[in-house]
Amino acid sequence: MHSHDPSAQSLIDLGKRYWLPVYRPRDVVLDHGKGARVWDTQGREYIDFGAGIAVNALGHQDPDLLEALTTQAHKLWHTSNVFYSEPPLHLAEELVAASGFAERVFLCNSGTEANEAAIKLVRKWASSQGREADKRVIVTFRGSFHGRTLAAVTATAQPKYQEGYEPLPGGFRYLDFNDVGALEAAFAHGDVAAVMLEPVQGEGGVLPAAPGFIKRVRELCDQYGALMVLDEIQCGMGRTGSLFAYVQDQAIPDIVTLAKALGCGFPIGAMLVGPKVAETMQFGAHGTTFGGNPLAAAVARVALRKLSSAEVLANVQHQSQALRDGLAHINASLDLFDEVRGRGLMLGAVLKDAHKGKAGSVLDHAAAHGLLLLQAGPDVLRFVPALNIGDADIAEGLQRLEAALRSYLAT
Ligand SMILES: *Cc1c(COP(=O)(O)O)cnc(C)c1O
Repeated sequence: MHSHDPSAQSLIDLGKRYWLPVYRPRDVVLDHGKGARVWDTQGREYIDFGAGIAVNALGHQDPDLLEALTTQAHKLWHTSNVFYSEPPLHLAEELVAASGFAERVFLCNSGTEANEAAIKLVRKWASSQGREADKRVIVTFRGSFHGRTLAAVTATAQPKYQEGYEPLPGGFRYLDFNDVGALEAAFAHGDVAAVMLEPVQGEGGVLPAAPGFIKRVRELCDQYGALMVLDEIQCGMGRTGSLFAYVQDQAIPDIVTLAKALGCGFPIGAMLVGPKVAETMQFGAHGTTFGGNPLAAAVARVALRKLSSAEVLANVQHQSQALRDGLAHINASLDLFDEVRGRGLMLGAVLKDAHKGKAGSVLDHAAAHGLLLLQAGPDVLRFVPALNIGDADIAEGLQRLEAALRSYLAT
């Protein structure tokens, strides 16, 4: 897809000339948004089924978020963690209360930093238990995504993210997701300090943990004295229909990481820690310059309040069904998907064999038809709209999707 607007093209050229070329964005320059709709610099309107990457959970320009941000902007932007300020103090209290398991919170700026903190905490905890360095293994799962710092990318059990960055930090073991037998065997080595997983794998293809799997992880962690770390960076904050995804798995974690929708577009991450590890990291053990930034925390407080409301969570279930019904209807005539999987407003449509590898091409057609859509790997279309999206935007988005799929099939 190519932009023919000279001013948009000159902007795109800046990106091609000056950015480190680690991204290949579509040739669209987005300009402003409202609710679940976004406009580009040429005034073309898009339905937003991606919300950034599952970030803008209250859509664009939510009035309460805007109010929180601008009010705080007129008071205090930054204090560092050498001094207190009010928003991150309340945010920590509110996250602990909302979680039902956590005692303390570490605030940071991104998902990968939250996971990096979790990995360091696991190692510190194992060390405090007197476990030798070779008995501090962290088990993660193929298809996972935990971020891009060197430790988080090592936890990410996908070679494509790791290639060329060796030597990678040691002490990780990769298993097939949802494979209980492999999990039991991995613990039998006697060296596992933690299991880290996403309740619903996001980047890996929108793949939920099988029923009972997380409960089994918990049992084995208890049996062998290991920690359970849940990465809810993408699936948390209401996306699956409950504020935290893990409550649907009936297992209590030791550590939960959050980011993406926590700031609804303002960068912030958090690590929530339960009683076993709340006192493990003491003065000087970890830190961050920007983490707990007052602007970010002021926004996140409002995001947390709204995303945990019964109204938003009910809407997630309602629109999830509408989206599933619409996708089933489209598939009945176009026969493109093997299945639609996921939970709440985190859904993945898995392309049939004949269309494997074509998710990127479908996304091009979607953008050309006024729909912002994501993929989760080359074979899965990912639907992660704002959690307060309305009936009309879902219906319009589905119509545009069908038109886009028809034009994809015609090429
Ligand atoms: C996006 C994501 C991360 C990384 O978050 P960043 O903010 O990009 O560092 C980690 N884990 C999961 C599950 C994610 O979806």
